[in-house]
Order: sequence, then C-alpha cells, then structure tokens
Amino acid sequence: MLTLTQKAPRDVLKSVFGFDDFRPGQEGIITRLMAGENILAVMPTGAGKSLCYQVPALLFENLTVVISPLVALMDNQVSGLRANGVDVAAIHSGQSRDENIAQWRKVSGRQESSGQTSGGQASGRQAKLLYLSPERLMTPRMLRALERLDPAMFVIDEAHCVSKWGPSFRPEYAQLSDLKRHFPKARIAAFTATADAATRSDIAQRLFDQKGQIIVQGFDRPNLSLAIAPKTDRKAQLLRFMESVRGQSGIIYALSRKNTEDFAQTLSGAGYKALPYHAGLDAQTRFETQERFMAEEGLVIVATIAFGMGIDKPDIRFVYHTNLPSSLEAYYQEIGRAGRDGGPALTALCYGLDDVALRRRFITQESSERDHQIREMKRLDALLTYCEASTCRRQVMLSYFGEAAAPCGNCDNCEDPPQMIDASKDLRALMRAVTETGSRFGQAHVIAVARGANTERIRQFGHDSLESYGGAQDKSAAYLQALTRQALASGHIDMDIERFGALKLTAKGGAVLSGTENFHCKAIRARPAERGEKAARKTAAQNSRLSQQDQDLFRQLKAKRMELARAMGKPAYVVFSDASLMDMAQKRPVNEAEMLDVSGVGAVKFEKFGAVFLEIITAA
Ligand code: ADP
Ligand code: MG
Ligand code: ZN
Repeated sequence: MLTLTQKAPRDVLKSVFGFDDFRPGQEGIITRLMAGENILAVMPTGAGKSLCYQVPALLFENLTVVISPLVALMDNQVSGLRANGVDVAAIHSGQSRDENIAQWRKVSGRQESSGQTSGGQASGRQAKLLYLSPERLMTPRMLRALERLDPAMFVIDEAHCVSKWGPSFRPEYAQLSDLKRHFPKARIAAFTATADAATRSDIAQRLFDQKGQIIVQGFDRPNLSLAIAPKTDRKAQLLRFMESVRGQSGIIYALSRKNTEDFAQTLSGAGYKALPYHAGLDAQTRFETQERFMAEEGLVIVATIAFGMGIDKPDIRFVYHTNLPSSLEAYYQEIGRAGRDGGPALTALCYGLDDVALRRRFITQESSERDHQIREMKRLDALLTYCEASTCRRQVMLSYFGEAAAPCGNCDNCEDPPQMIDASKDLRALMRAVTETGSRFGQAHVIAVARGANTERIRQFGHDSLESYGGAQDKSAAYLQALTRQALASGHIDMDIERFGALKLTAKGGAVLSGTENFHCKAIRARPAERGEKAARKTAAQNSRLSQQDQDLFRQLKAKRMELARAMGKPAYVVFSDASLMDMAQKRPVNEAEMLDVSGVGAVKFEKFGAVFLEIITAA
C-alpha cells in the first residue's frame, strides 16, 4: 500500500521551492494526484507543469518515474531540482553506462530504507524522482526492475508526443500505453501545453483508458505583453526595440538564415551580445550557442524557428518577430517561450503586406493538396485578424483558442487604444485603383496610382490617365498601406498569389465600393510605424515594476548570481530566477525569515546563497 506523509503540499511548495502560492491549476492537480487519480493536464507553457508532479513526488513514499522526450529538457529539470536540494536520478543516453548505473543505485536502494518521510529534503540517499527517456523505460529489463520498486506515479511530460494525431508524434511514446498494464497501482500524470479536444481524448485513452481526469487550464499568459508594429525599416525598428530590453535575454525570430546572420551582426555592432542560430550551422556550433543562451545572461539569439524546442530557460525576457509567423498557434508557441518564470516579458511582431504575400506563397508551395491549403490559409487569416485588431489583442488571441477574457491592459491596443475613423472614401479610392488597373498589380503600384505618383511603371502602363489616378492624393503611403492591410484582414480585398500578390476585390469589398456599406479603420498617428513600438516600450517601462533604486539593486543581485552560477558551471537561473531577484530587490530582506519570504527562496537555497545575497542587500 502506498502511504502518504502528513506533510501538506503547501509546506513542500514553501520549504523546498520557496513559493508562497500555487499558480492557477496547480493545487487541484496535486490534490487529485495525492488522491491516486490519473490525470491529463493541458496547461500553457510556463504555467508551472513540473511543480504539479514534483510536489506530490516528494510527498509519496515510493518512487516517481518521469518520462521526458529530450535529454536537454531532463537536464534542466534535474539541475533545477538539485539546486533546491532535491535528490533526483536521471538515466539517459547522454550519460556513460557507469553514470547510469550509479543513478540507478540512487533509486533502487529504496526498499531497504523505507519509512523515510523527509519530504524530499535529501536527508537520505534515496532519490524520489527518476527521469527516464521513453526508450529506456520500455525495455523488459527496466520494467521488471521498476516493478520491484512499486512506483507511486508515472509522469509523462510533453504528452502530446503520445498521440498519432498530434504534430510531434514519437513512436517510443506509443509504447507508453502499456504502462497501465505493468503498473496497475501507480497513477499516471500526463502533461502537455498543446492538445486539441480530439488529441486530448486520444492521449487519455492510450495512457489510462479514459479512467482519469482531463484538466484544461486557460491559455492566458498575462505577464506577456503583446504588441504589433507595421513594418517600415526592419533594422531600424529592431534597434529601437532593442534599446528597451538592453542587457536582457531574448529571442529574435527571422525567416531566412541570411537574415539571422545579418541581424546578429547589426546587433553586435550596436553593442549587444547576439548570436545567429539556424539549421545551416553545424551541430557543434548550434549546441554551443544553445548552451551559452542557457548559461549566460543578456544573450540575444537571432534564430529561425529551428530554435526553441528543448529550451526551458525560465528568464527569457523578450521575443521579437521580424516576420509574420505561419499562424496564431505558431505565434503563441513562439512568444510563449518568454517569461516562464512569471516575470514581465515583452513580445512584439513587426510585419508588412509583403510578409502576407510570402506566407501565402509558402502555403501554395508546401503542398498541392487543396484541403491543406484552405486550412493553412484560414490559419494565416486568423493571424492577420489578430495583427490588425483594434481591440485588446489578448481578447482576440484567447477567443481564437476558445476562451473569453476581459481587456488585458498589457497590449498595445489596451495601452494606447486606436481611434477608429470612417475610411470608406479612401478605401473606395484604393479599390477603384485596383479594378481600373485590371486587378493585376500588388499594393505598391496600386497605392502609387491612388496617390497620383509619378513613377516609371505608371507612365509605362499609362495609369496616369485613369480616373482613379490621384483619387487619394492627399493621403500618406503609410496610411494607405495600413488601410490595405486592414481591408485584407477583414476580407474586403484579397491577394492573388498566382499573380504575385495582385490585389483584387471580394464581394464584401464590392459592397463598400458600390456605397451600400461603409468601412471603418484605425486612424494613423503622426508617426504610425513607431506607434506599436512606442507602446511596447511603454509597456516595458511599466512592466519592470521596479523603482530606479530597486533596479540598481536588481542589477547588483544579477551580477552576484552570474558570479555564483559561473563558479558552479550552471545556468544563472539555477541559482535564482529573475522573478526571485526582482522580488528580493523590492522586499529587501534583512534576515533569514524575511529572505525565506522571497518567492523562490527555499530552505536549501537559503542555506547555499542566502548570506551572500543578504550582504548585498544590507550594503545597498
Ligand atoms: P511548464 O512546464 O508548464 O512550461 P515549468 O514547470 O517549467 O513550466 O515552470 C515555469 C517556471 O515557473 C519555473 O521557473 C518555475 O520555477 C516557476 N513556477 C512554477 N510554479 C510556481 C509557483 N507556484 N510560484 C512561482 N513560480 C512558479
Ligand atoms: Mg515543462
Ligand atoms: Zn489588451
């Protein structure tokens, strides 16, 4: 029989991890696991899934086995736990045979030393958690050995890999459906950030025959600020954005390898620590870049989307996109890598109509299958709607994922609500230019015609003699571009990819042209391109929450953290997370009791680092 210690989850949360409160969803999951139920929990990245099984694992008498798909992810978890004084074992192919045997000894001696109720404070030599790759677990030998230990729980992290319907199915994960037969007494706890209803039910079926709870925690990540800026000069915009996050760790996404190298160089030239990352670099370089990103502070990675999977760095402070991603799902996953520690993080996306044309071309080239194309175009359209939204971005985003929310106060539209104007007349002028030029031209030419520009191309086609020539003479190009994007997002005009992004009218657009309907759009400010950026910067300032004095102390604490981490050869966050140091800079503890009150300072970390940090605070 499994026996539980009397120690409550909340005590472990405080004494081991140093946190005062559970995050949304955590406590309910822990209670269910303590009661012996199977669960599948779907929670957004950064929600704190690990804690949901680590807390009960420390309270169970018997072993908990954690299955994780990547060695890098396992390593992160293991060093994090060890820093909190939790004894854990890990067996995987990244270690020597001898090391794996030594790790096994840490868990196999359990039977002889039963009765230990330390709550995981490493008083004995027995590890209560064993991290394993799925292929290591499902060998007859390992299964037999584990059966003797009578594990209390099996945890399947990144559980979407179990389902054939998910995008990242892994054959080794499929075998995990046999677990419930081998270990009928153990609970099964599966976690993932991404699984739609069908995939969820498939996972629950495979892992525990639906005999358990599926828990879906909201998608919202309130600490991520959201902003969009229309593209004008990509490099200049990037540099302006970077000023607001100088010295912080972050990811900049670009589409091409050339762009990543180019931007990384520009940033290095401007005094930032920046490195490119893309699939064209050799494995060693990529590995080193990733390691440096994990360990160093203030490093900026300019990457293609190849970067991110297997990165579990909790203190990424910003994610900046220099191009339009493929969908809202992809975008949310990519920005979701920021601010996992719950601290404020900035996200911004810079895009223009050429991005839309490019994405549409990708979709038609990617697959000739009609259904696939339609589906992907729809996803792209949803992203455009988000980009051109005039109301709270988080509301738009969450409603796409099926959640209702109040205006967030942490996006550019909330910070600086756009003013809506009647743009019917201007859109008609634009649409006339589209139809009179034969719906064969892209936005640059159409806008030039509407503005009555004198270009070579206009003269060549005789477009200066059209009635629509100069129909929006008094309007700026930036305004007409914004109008075009909004009309595209709302489905009033369309873009013909087979004809290189030529604009054409839709039925909806026709109704505006004929005057039966009107069109409202966001007003453009004096310097439209910078509006989104300004909002992002403003958000940055507000979000930092720290006063100037506290910021100074925060910097000193970070410097000390860096020094300690270097000496241990570990990433900085293994010492303390950004969120912890920020809390410390604000609370300014002067003794042990006050220090233990800081978020993320548990007993073991206090013992290891408490005095050093107290000294800095007292001297400040
Ligand atoms: P997920 O796996 O859901 O993406 P993690 O388990 O890696 O998220 O947790 C993300 C971060 O949140 C970690 O730095 C962790 O220490 C922190 N965290 C988790 N639970 C809490 C909590 N209750 N209070 C404060 N921080 C927490
Ligand atoms: Mg995780
Ligand atoms: Zn908002």
